Amino acid sequence: MESLDVLIVGAGPAGIGMALALSKVPGLAYGVVESDRIGESFRRWPEQTRLITPSFNSNPFGLADLNAVDENSSPAIFAGAEHLNGPQYADYLSAVAETYDLPIACGCKVLDVSVDPEGGFQLATEKGELHARFLIWATGEYQFPDLDPFPGARACLHYARVEDWNALEGNHHTVIGGYESGVDAAVNLIRLGHHVRLLARRPTWDLPDTNDPSQVLSPYTRERLREFEQTGRLEIVFGANVVELSETDAGGYRIHAADGRHWDCDTRPVLGTGFIGGGGARQIEDLWEWDDGKVLLTPQDESTCTPGLFLVGPQVCHEQRIYCFIYKFRQRFGLIAIELAQRLELDDFGLMSPGGAWGPFGNDECCEGCEC
Ligand SMILES: Cc1cc2nc3c(=O)[nH]c(=O)nc-3n(C[C@H](O)[C@H](O)[C@H](O)COP(=O)(O)OP(=O)(O)OC[C@H]3O[C@@H](n4cnc5c(N)ncnc54)[C@H](O)[C@@H]3O)c2cc1C
Repeated sequence: MESLDVLIVGAGPAGIGMALALSKVPGLAYGVVESDRIGESFRRWPEQTRLITPSFNSNPFGLADLNAVDENSSPAIFAGAEHLNGPQYADYLSAVAETYDLPIACGCKVLDVSVDPEGGFQLATEKGELHARFLIWATGEYQFPDLDPFPGARACLHYARVEDWNALEGNHHTVIGGYESGVDAAVNLIRLGHHVRLLARRPTWDLPDTNDPSQVLSPYTRERLREFEQTGRLEIVFGANVVELSETDAGGYRIHAADGRHWDCDTRPVLGTGFIGGGGARQIEDLWEWDDGKVLLTPQDESTCTPGLFLVGPQVCHEQRIYCFIYKFRQRFGLIAIELAQRLELDDFGLMSPGGAWGPFGNDECCEGCEC
């Protein structure tokens, strides 16, 4: 793998799915490097976390399983589950990689990337130097939590640092953040018998202007929230714009909101406030242009300032379209594969039109508000 046409960095669903799309281009020399194991982020999820998008084998009717990274496989069939846990989904990705014999080097972290003045990219990795004409960055968000969203926040426990909600000490907890990870933390703690105060800016399950699950709480999480609201062990505080955390003389914590309210708690508050803007793309920050924490991309998902560098995964965003779910960002794989095949003057036979492989709804034209 020392010199390649295309190198993918990261072996999560974005990297594996992208590699599958490239495997359909005859004659393309491509590879994947992964710092740890295939699906590593999913292996680091808390024990109780499940995929919120359901899996179902709808493939034979032209609608691929929502969480599949290729058109033929179904995580639902693989795991025998509708809402897979992290290890189940990571095992699914590994099985897909093995089935298609994808060229992946695990335990090979990319440490540095530089643009080669003679063309392509030079990469320093834990296993030596690599050269690639094109680079696809697929390093995700989960391993890049924002630990500093407000002063004092480092004393909190970030969702992405929890292995098992059972391990938390105490019985009363405060969770900051009212979207998917905050509500997931709350319902998992309540399921285990704890009391939770959830501090939310707004009810993300009841937003007036959008139905996009990238902004509105998913039905799966809404359903769980409704169920656990009945226990009497959940207090939800709205309008809580947390601006600071201080530690009290008694060894506890005081959470301060912008409107002057405060809440005291004895246990470390849980942060469900998200990841650093751009996630893993920050590792090569200078190779992208940025706008308000988002990576700027061409319509082909290429860096606007570094030709030959592409982004796949949840950070891909085009105006109002946020591709932060697997079923969304997988629609971009074909587009990039076709683009690269054309630039390398290779036959793109076997690749369907961008997104077309994903069935009637898998096309770039279909968005919220359209007629289909
Ligand atoms: C709690 C939670 C629940 C979610 N539920 C859903 C859901 O139900 N449905 C859904 O569609 N999405 C869901 N998501 C979002 C989904 O997990 C992400 O969108 C998805 O993991 C992104 O895939 P990825 O391949 O881009 O990133 P990742 O899965 O994070 O993969 C990135 C890979 O890159 C590797 N890497 C990072 N840096 C380097 C480097 N320098 N060198 C080499 N390798 C590197 C990492 O080890 C990792 O394996 C959820 C997210 C969370 C946090």
